[in-house]
Amino acid sequence: MKYTLLSKAEMDQREYFEKGGMINVYECTTCHRTVMYLYIDSGVTPSHLTCGFCHGEAVSRFGMLSQPSRFWYRPKDLEELKKMVNDAYEANKEEYEKAGKDESEASIKEVILDNYIEHYNQGGLFARSR
Ligand SMILES: [Zn+2]
Repeated sequence: MKYTLLSKAEMDQREYFEKGGMINVYECTTCHRTVMYLYIDSGVTPSHLTCGFCHGEAVSRFGMLSQPSRFWYRPKDLEELKKMVNDAYEANKEEYEKAGKDESEASIKEVILDNYIEHYNQGGLFARSR
């Protein structure tokens, strides 16, 4: 009997195969924990797995995630943190004004900046979309 193995080039060409470099997440329908998989190679994977935590059924979210959509990062300096405070303030102005009661915009921003710096100095990363 002659053995032939499908080559990597053939694997990469199959349109219905998941592509190497993609990311997929399986979510358990019982305990709702998620596990993220990175495809090192192109190929075929199951749509359902047994949950490694509770042995429930984990379902692939394939198709929803082909690349990360949120990023954890460390702002480069104080200026960037201040800009982030301004952006956060503008995006949530009403909530900040309600929480800050009669405080001025400047003192509300100062409180936010203090919190950001504390987070930063504890090693905290910040999330962004790009
Ligand atoms: Zn589970």
